[in-house]
Amino acid sequence: MATEQTYIMIKPDGVQRGLVGEIIARFEKRGYKLVAMKLMQASKEHLEKHYEDLSSKGFFNGLIKYMASGPVVAMVWEGKDAVKQGRAMLGATNPLASAPGTIRGDYCIDTGRNIIHGSDAVDSAKKEIALWFPEGLCQYTAATASWIYE
Ligand code: UDP
Ligand code: MG
Repeated sequence: MATEQTYIMIKPDGVQRGLVGEIIARFEKRGYKLVAMKLMQASKEHLEKHYEDLSSKGFFNGLIKYMASGPVVAMVWEGKDAVKQGRAMLGATNPLASAPGTIRGDYCIDTGRNIIHGSDAVDSAKKEIALWFPEGLCQYTAATASWIYE
């Protein structure tokens, strides 16, 4: 399994509902390494670029309005198999189809208010990281690395 970076974003509802700490804690406790994070009010143009693959969908305009309705927490988490594991930690797109124990399965109900985004593949993670963090990521050695990886 390769070391990967994944783009994780707490959506405006997650911020407003006070779930930022809970969500960050899950990635920290799992052992993933935080390499970038910022609170950001994204413009509609920026969000349209982020979700450009979905621009033909009926829910697109509502999605952009929801995502622009308040600040988001943009993050990059790094570690072994981070993209797939991140998606598993999020749960399904529809929170009602998400298992208890996942972030969406534990904290939300409607698809259009599903509190968190996670990259769905290594390629899309790279694109999303470049879009949200043009300034680059933090490079440091995690003190816990040898306690997490054998
Ligand atoms: N979405 C929606 N209605 C739908 C499908 C998706 O409002 O029928 C929203 C939802 O917030 C979702 C986002 O659009 O998280 C992006 O959709 P995608 O299919 O990429 O789901 P995700 O990758 O976030 O699980
Ligand atoms: Mg997606």
